This record gives sequence, structure tokens and C-alpha cells, in this order.
Amino acid sequence: MKEDEYLLPLYKRLDVSFVKGKKSILYDEEGKDYVDFTSGIGVNSLGYANKEVVKTIKEQAKNILHTSNIYRIKSQEKCAKKIVELSNLDMQCFFCNSGAESNESAIKLARKYGNTEFAKAKYKIITIKNSFHGRTIATLKATAQEDKHKFFGPYPEGFVYAKDINEAITLIDESTVAVMLELIQGEGGIFMQDVHKIKELETILKSKKLLLIIDEVQTGVYRSGNFLISQYFGIKPDIITLAKGLSTGIPIGVMMTSLKNIFKAGDHGSTFGGNHMSTTVCTKVLNILEEYSNSGKLEVNIKYFNNYLHYFVDKYPSLFLQKNGWGFMQGLVLNDENKLDEIVKKSLKKGVLVLKSGKNIIRFLPALNISKKEIKQGFERFESSLIEILKEEKRK
Ligand SMILES: *Cc1c(COP(=O)(O)O)cnc(C)c1O
Repeated sequence: MKEDEYLLPLYKRLDVSFVKGKKSILYDEEGKDYVDFTSGIGVNSLGYANKEVVKTIKEQAKNILHTSNIYRIKSQEKCAKKIVELSNLDMQCFFCNSGAESNESAIKLARKYGNTEFAKAKYKIITIKNSFHGRTIATLKATAQEDKHKFFGPYPEGFVYAKDINEAITLIDESTVAVMLELIQGEGGIFMQDVHKIKELETILKSKKLLLIIDEVQTGVYRSGNFLISQYFGIKPDIITLAKGLSTGIPIGVMMTSLKNIFKAGDHGSTFGGNHMSTTVCTKVLNILEEYSNSGKLEVNIKYFNNYLHYFVDKYPSLFLQKNGWGFMQGLVLNDENKLDEIVKKSLKKGVLVLKSGKNIIRFLPALNISKKEIKQGFERFESSLIEILKEEKRK
């Protein structure tokens, strides 16, 4: 019997299954260890089995996991305060359970704003080529990768795609309500936007009272070195979405906004969103990360990690074209996209986990508290897989 015969075949899975982890090291069923440079695609911000997080989860489970949002949830109130304070923006939060849901919430909020705040209703949302905003029908349509849209239509109307920020600016018309984008495209190739262009876009949108929505589902929660990459860009978006790294593995999403008077009770909601467990863990994770970032260790280790990537680009020009990315969201761009799967698989065999992005990029999203020792060990294993691939190539 194939053990996965009851699962829909939606993922191209690698044939390994992990049973436990400690910090940035994972162990499979045979006890083999792996250095994890993926953190569950940016989710496990504190790695595995963080002592303080485990303690928080245990204590919370003893008391209460969930009550409905028809009652006050104090841990949710506290968590929202922490998120808003770390953002340094005058905002309020809505809690949900995933990145797609937080973007869906942002789209709904923008639509209500467009439908209520102007004499003639506005509804169009401009998104950027190769973006990724989620897999629900609306967020899939917001994702400007048309090859992904086949088969699932019809879609809600009102999404417009721009090839870059310049084109987004020219596409703004009287029905446009918002521009939504990632400051570094995560799934679409670790592509970072230009700070000046984004500021120009922000100025234009503000002058027309239109909305800037920043999808920080992957870039947020210190992945860039700042709590938000919007802070590094020096912008004040109207809506920001977060999810992946917030609770180091407990599902949670947040849509935060400076628009405090658009949504009224009943306009939107979530059954699970912001429950006692997810928000208690989130506040704990954010406190730990804030302290870690303030200690300077995050910045130092990001530099240490980066030096390795520069080393690989210099040492292996036949494999790598360049390094892309920022903070702990990094990519090595391959000369030959056919090598992508080979490197991921060989690395797995050598005991280090790396991700793909776009067609030709090895993506690195380590836990934010990964140690120098783990980084060194991971890259030694990564290099041994490169050496082996080059050797095998020679033999051919
Ligand atoms: C992962 C991701 C999403 C979707 O998040 P889910 O939790 O899978 O729904 C949306 N936007 C960006 C930028 C992402 O990286």
C-alpha cells in the first residue's frame, strides 16, 4: 500500500520525513540530521523546539485554546498592541490564519474603501508581474502569474497587472483603488524593488487618496533584519499583511491597517483567527525576536550568512550568476535552470535543506535565530554537494 494514497497529489514532495528538530537541525526517521536553511518556507522563525515557545504552548494548552471572537480575547488584544508597536505605525489589526487570508482581507478592505469613500466607486487593484499573494480564488487572481490562472476561472474582476513599478504608476486610472505588492518577491525570484521607485509610487498614491498595500507575508517579522521591510524602505503603507514567521509554526495571519473606520462589525471575520493559542504564542515569539534583534545578533548573523553566499558566487562562477536578496531572505541565481532540482536534491542528500524560487534560484530562508555554527555546518554540506555535482559533470 502506498502510504500517501489518501492524499491529493498536490505537492511534488521530496522523499524524506522529519520526526523532530532542535534549533536549526532536523532529524529524519533514521536519525540522520539536516541543517535547515528553509524554516518551513519562512515559518519557523525560532527554529524547532524553542524552550520558551514550548513552555508557552504547554501552559496555554492547559488553560484555553479557543473561544469565539464574539467574546473578548485578551491575548489577541495584547498581540495586536505588540505588532502595532513594533511596526511604529498608527494601525489596527485583524487576525486570520494564513497569508492568503490576510491578503484576502486586505482586498476586501480596499474594495470597501473604494466603494464608500469616493463619489464614483473605485475597485481596481494593480499587482506586479511574478508576484505571489495566495491560492484562494481572489488572491490567485491578484497573483500576476497568468500561467497559474488556467483552469480555475471565472475570477472576480478588477485585478490589473503591471510589469514593474513604473508601469503600475501609468496604469492608475479613475477606477483604481490600490496597488498591492511585495517589496521582495519571495516565490517570484527573490526580486527586490527599488527604494526610490517605491517612494515615488507611495507619493502618487497618497496624493490621490489611493491605497498602498504591502504583502509582507514572507518579508515581515524580522526576515529583512527590520520588523517590517516597509520600515527599511521608509514607507507608510495603508495596509500590511503578515503571516509566515509570526508564531514559529502555529497558523496565524494578520492584516494591519491605518484605515480604522472602513470595516464595521459583521463586514469580515474568522472563526479560528486570533485565538488564544496562536496569539499567545505570537506575542512570545515577537518578544524573543525583538530582544534578539536589539542585541545586534540578528544583524551580525545575517552578515555572516551573506559572506558565504558571496563566497559561492566568487568561487563557483560556472554555477552561479549572482546573489539576490536581503536580510535572511536570500537567493543564489543559477546560470543553468536545469541544475535547480539537482542542487536541491544533492543538498538534501548531504544533509542541508534549501528551497527553490522562480525558475533558476536557490532560495535560503533560515530560522532567524540560526547560529554561526549551524550556518557554517550547513554551508559546508552545501559546498560538498556543489563539488560533487561539478565532479559528476566532468565525468559525463
Ligand atoms: C506564502 C505567501 C503567501 C500565501 O501564504 P499562505 O499562508 O500559504 O496562504 C502570500 N504572499 C506571500 C508574499 C507569500 O510569501
